[in-house]
Amino acid sequence: MEKKSSRRDFIKNASIGTLGAIALTQLNSLDALAAPHEGPLFVQAALPYDYKALEPHIDAMTMEIHYSKHHKGYIDNLNKICAEKNIHTHSVESLFPAISTMPVALRNNAGGHYNHTLFWTMMTPNGGGEPTGKVKTAIDAAFGNFNDFKTKFNEAAKSRFGSGWAWLVLNKEGKLEIGSTPNQDNPLMDVSEVKGTPILCLDVWEHAYYLKYQNKRADYVNAFWNVINWNTVAARLG
Ligand code: MN
Repeated sequence: MEKKSSRRDFIKNASIGTLGAIALTQLNSLDALAAPHEGPLFVQAALPYDYKALEPHIDAMTMEIHYSKHHKGYIDNLNKICAEKNIHTHSVESLFPAISTMPVALRNNAGGHYNHTLFWTMMTPNGGGEPTGKVKTAIDAAFGNFNDFKTKFNEAAKSRFGSGWAWLVLNKEGKLEIGSTPNQDNPLMDVSEVKGTPILCLDVWEHAYYLKYQNKRADYVNAFWNVINWNTVAARLG
């Protein structure tokens, strides 16, 4: 492989933040971004706990398949698509604001990678309970009280038809809002009905719960509250 010039590297690296949001057709026309890169763009972060750590709420086999097969599959596909399309950004988020202009396979796999990376951090074996401090204050302000928030979030998770995600987001008005997305869409995408910074998310694809809960999605949704990592939620709230 020919060694890249330092100028090309400079342009490529300097462009990562701003060019990611540009439509794919435009990305392809930029020679500076067409330089070959070494190794995969996206790698899977280590799971922050053991597969069995969330039992009995989320079983070990579901966690293992979910992380090592489903999530890994999205990353492998995403890397393949990026290689084919000469996409060089390492920021998966930068693709989302103009995702409607990009191929559906890129949307599904970029979303799949981002959403799962976030989802693993939303859970912890020492989680659950009710939030305190600024998270409690923000939830009470937006939804009245924790139980009403929980009911509304559960409703979003249970009523999402087919595969998708439930979200708590901070919208551009700085308000907390609950919604859901189909497939691997997320609130950072221009195609999403609910938009904002993801604060909390729950995967409601059948692959996330079917081995333990079968058709009883509501039981899985209820179990999630026992493993929520409120420290992650607090950190994302800023
Ligand atoms: Mn999943």
